[in-house]
Amino acid sequence: MGRGAALVRSTIELLLPRSCAACGGAGANGTDDLICGVCWSRLPALQHPQCPRCGHPQRGDACALCAALPPFVRAVRSVCWVPHPVASGIVGSLKYDGWQAVAREMAVRMARLHWPADVVRERAALVPVPLHATRERERGFNQAAALAQGLREHWRVPAWTDILTRHRTTETQTRLTPAERSANVHGAFRVRDGARLHGQHIVLVDDVFTTGATLNACAKALFDSGARILSYVTFGRAHAGADR
Ligand SMILES: [Zn+2]
Ligand SMILES: [Zn+2]
Repeated sequence: MGRGAALVRSTIELLLPRSCAACGGAGANGTDDLICGVCWSRLPALQHPQCPRCGHPQRGDACALCAALPPFVRAVRSVCWVPHPVASGIVGSLKYDGWQAVAREMAVRMARLHWPADVVRERAALVPVPLHATRERERGFNQAAALAQGLREHWRVPAWTDILTRHRTTETQTRLTPAERSANVHGAFRVRDGARLHGQHIVLVDDVFTTGATLNACAKALFDSGARILSYVTFGRAHAGADR
């Protein structure tokens, strides 16, 4: 959906009594919400107990997901599993159907996630995973930036939406293996000159954590530009290879 279509869509959002943007049911009628209460209640939350660092449900002592994170990543949190009919429907309504305002409702759920105390104390800014400029023009907006802007109001920290750029288009990641995903995004992100990151704890924001390849590549770029520590927050999380 291009910018014009996204604008038409956001105007329609304001005018019409609406059905749920994810399931098409009438549950959201009568409220300002785009996603109905039935969908929210069916969201497949990540179960407890969780790894204190990466937030992945944990069965033993060793955490395979943590082993794949760069050492400067402090913590990762996500709201729910993807793919899943409801969770994927919500992400799709934001990302592919252009319901930008769904980000605000997703951010409410992301804001309720529990973090280690030091992350809450130190987090200096939210940085969304950027889209390449061409992709962002096609879509009309960056879904990760919309989530960061929603989350900013709850956390009371700034969202730095323009310090990280994606300077080459990358192949869509969907069909790639984890190793291919890492190679695909390696070096794809750049920090703008003059960004003041030195010593900061930055929280990267994305819609979905799949293998972490994209987030890790963003984190590396920020770390190499002076950020001291990174955390990640996403709405959806894919099952790691081991829990399939
Ligand atoms: Zn619904
Ligand atoms: Zn872990």
